[in-house]
Amino acid sequence: TANGVSNGDHKKPHFILVPLMAQGHMIPMVDLGLLLAGRGVSVSVMTTPVNASRFRSTIDRARLAGLPIRFVELRFPSAEVGLPDGFENIDVMTRMDYALDFFRAIRLLQQPVEDYIREQSPLPNCIISDACHPWMRSVARNLGIPRLTFFSICCFTLLCEYNIWHYKVFDSLEDEKAPFAVPGLAERIEVTRAQAPGFWAGWEEMAKEVREAEFAADGIVVNTFDAMEAVHIESYAKAMGKKVWSLGPFSLCNKTIASMAARGNKASIDAAQCLSWLEPKEPRSVVYVSFGSLTHMKPSQLMEIGLGLEASGHPFVLVIKKAEVNAEVEEWLLEFEERMGSRGLVIKGWAPQVMILSHPAAGGFMTHCGWNSTLEGITAGVPMITWPHFADQFLNERMAVDVLKVAVSLGVKEPTKWGVDDVPFVVSRDEVERAVRRLMDGGEEGRERRERARKLGEKAKEAMEEGGSSHANMAHLIEHYTRHATKESNGYSH
Ligand code: UDP
Repeated sequence: TANGVSNGDHKKPHFILVPLMAQGHMIPMVDLGLLLAGRGVSVSVMTTPVNASRFRSTIDRARLAGLPIRFVELRFPSAEVGLPDGFENIDVMTRMDYALDFFRAIRLLQQPVEDYIREQSPLPNCIISDACHPWMRSVARNLGIPRLTFFSICCFTLLCEYNIWHYKVFDSLEDEKAPFAVPGLAERIEVTRAQAPGFWAGWEEMAKEVREAEFAADGIVVNTFDAMEAVHIESYAKAMGKKVWSLGPFSLCNKTIASMAARGNKASIDAAQCLSWLEPKEPRSVVYVSFGSLTHMKPSQLMEIGLGLEASGHPFVLVIKKAEVNAEVEEWLLEFEERMGSRGLVIKGWAPQVMILSHPAAGGFMTHCGWNSTLEGITAGVPMITWPHFADQFLNERMAVDVLKVAVSLGVKEPTKWGVDDVPFVVSRDEVERAVRRLMDGGEEGRERRERARKLGEKAKEAMEEGGSSHANMAHLIEHYTRHATKESNGYSH
């Protein structure tokens, strides 16, 4: 049945996954679910109807292939907090006050989630819940089930945020635009307070609750891999005093064109059409330009990006979100697309990102540095141009540029505020052109960067293969939580 564990599944270990309803959280959590199910774990992903519907084809395909994964759908309490019907994902929250209501509504899911899990017999072995659901701490404690938290951020960024908090850096910092070196790192990394204010800046109660729930968790799951940042993984585990499970890159669970093309939302372009555009391009020649699921660019900024790509002379794919397309953009695109001919592909809406990046023609990626996108670029072995906007993105940029040295920065220093419409116009066409040329031409420096990126991409793939570190860590995790479940009392402290 859709809502019950199907025949045979009850003998398998059962994991409950509770993602935050934002694409940058849902996508990797569903990938994680597919990976677990592929290793024989029965997986229940708890979410709401609108979010489940976006992943329906992914889950249906997985079930057809015999994977024990399903959605458990709980009604989203939008009415209770005064949110419009269907507002169930951060990507439709256009205003900050919506976002506050959104998190209030999410909290109301605590009881239904707990009630549902309590009904399962036997009780599930393990809960993996988003770090942004601190209330899952009580659910796990009330039920006596081990809880791992998950946040799709690399350990470098988690460690930086931890150290900035732990060493109370902001207590002695007056100027929010003054660069400081993040303490407690092996390398010298500079950011400003404005760029790395902490994930819940301005929302101190939530910040505290999330932190405490993180300290109380039994372990932390991270979408990263040992060969990329073993030192950060180890240091973060030490700082938190618990096991950090590096199990990524999760996106590699999507092995077929169909699964890559359907990832996250239904793509706005037909996979075959997209592939036939990519096919004749030279290997490693195309620059893919996309800024994730939440950023919002003004028409003037989109046009500057387009004109910069045009001037660079390189073939490109430019992704423009549906919400960014207005009459002005439409009109400009008519001429722009005609001028570009087969050199430029503009995708209006949701792009099959992993499918494009993993195509041999992909040669560079201009990204906003959301961690999923950054890791997808790393996994594809392509060098990147970084243009962070907010949240953890400036620290992820430092990871790609300074630590891994697989990216060039566009040089944006000022964060934009998510949910605020009048984002100032920031990057000119000349800057876009220069960055693309530096990435794609770039002489010796560019060649070395491309080579580092290619090698890192190979290591990412090795990590997920049989015998690789993430593959082995996944086996240990499943074994660990299956074994513990057989005990009467699991002795976990929450
Ligand atoms: N994504 C996609 N197509 C798009 C936009 C985004 O497939 O047109 C995916 C992308 O591959 C990534 C996720 O959405 O997995 C975005 O997550 P990320 O952490 O990069 O950024 P966020 O959207 O959270 O800012």
